[in-house]
Amino acid sequence: MIDYKALQQQYEIEVYPMRDVVFVKGKGARLWDDQGNEYIDLSAGISVANIGHCNDKVVDAITNQASTLITCANTFYNDKKALFLEKLFSIAPKNMKKAFLTNSGTEAIEGAIKFARYTTKKAKFIAAMKGFHGRTMGALSATFKSEYREGFEPLVPGFTFVPYNNFEKLSEAVDNDTAGIILELVQGEGGINIGKKEYFQNVRKLCDEKGIILIIDEIQTGFCRTGKMFAIEHYDIEADMMTLAKSIAGGFPMGAILCSEKIKMEKSKHGSTFGGNPLACAAGIAAIDFMLKNKLWEQAERKGNYFKEKLSKYALSKVREIRQIGLMIGIELKDKSQPVIVELLKKGIVTLPGGTTVLRLLPPLVISYEELDIAIEKIAEVLV
Ligand SMILES: *Cc1c(COP(=O)(O)O)cnc(C)c1O
Repeated sequence: MIDYKALQQQYEIEVYPMRDVVFVKGKGARLWDDQGNEYIDLSAGISVANIGHCNDKVVDAITNQASTLITCANTFYNDKKALFLEKLFSIAPKNMKKAFLTNSGTEAIEGAIKFARYTTKKAKFIAAMKGFHGRTMGALSATFKSEYREGFEPLVPGFTFVPYNNFEKLSEAVDNDTAGIILELVQGEGGINIGKKEYFQNVRKLCDEKGIILIIDEIQTGFCRTGKMFAIEHYDIEADMMTLAKSIAGGFPMGAILCSEKIKMEKSKHGSTFGGNPLACAAGIAAIDFMLKNKLWEQAERKGNYFKEKLSKYALSKVREIRQIGLMIGIELKDKSQPVIVELLKKGIVTLPGGTTVLRLLPPLVISYEELDIAIEKIAEVLV
């Protein structure tokens, strides 16, 4: 048998903190390794497989499109892109009018930074401590964690960080050269920190008063994860730009920047070779259709509440707090989360870290109650 782990170790540059398993197959909320072991996936590839691994509709869409047209330069019109955009705007907040399509989340953030500068003719940005927006230079400049930034400076100048959910500190950081404010509604990577409604409403007002572009990063919270199609629906505010990616196309790489009428761009000022390619768009149409047909946001809300209620019945001595909105769950531990993640993996449960002490759970939203029950039992065994 081929030692895939050794092979990968030989050739892949070591940027990822690896987990000791080789996944070869997935379906719904299940994964299988190369030894034939079965796992329940509470990570969904970091909130990518919201509609489940190898969703039948997405598999069909990709298969059909692959034999029809795989690539199309963005200077030509394309049937699948037109239909995908129509589908995306059928679910987008009503003030969103135009989109730019990308291949990933970090590219969506990158574009949003450019669009905000171009629109406002101002240079600076404010982002939140513990926020995560990606790894390319612009997005990294908006990302707080020093471990990710160190060794790569100088980053893009003009970024300031303020404590999350603290409006006073944020308003103090604004000046006449502030182009944009970039925030997640629920900080994912930072440990499932849920934004306060009042905070975001104040941020919106401040942006209106000062002519600042409000960029809401829904890359992790979007597409039914928090119990709404988009998390912004919990907040009664409008964004000027929204960045999307992760589960937008059922696991196929894709991202988008949604723009309100405020955003001004001109021909030849931005672009991408692969962004919005026919395969991604076909997968995206199928993914969004599946979410709508199955009212996936309702499932996320019900299953998330069920999970928290049931897990909370155990006397979990290792747990400080459970934070949950839909199926976006952070279990704050009294100690480091890494050993717990390793132990759970041995028990066939795939979980994620969120900061050093948070066990982050982002299961496929199609996970069954039976699978949730098994997962809850195993998690309780490890955390009592
Ligand atoms: C994952 C993530 C990104 C980066 O997306 P990539 O596709 O990995 O580049 C940006 N913002 C948030 C909130 C994310 O969760």
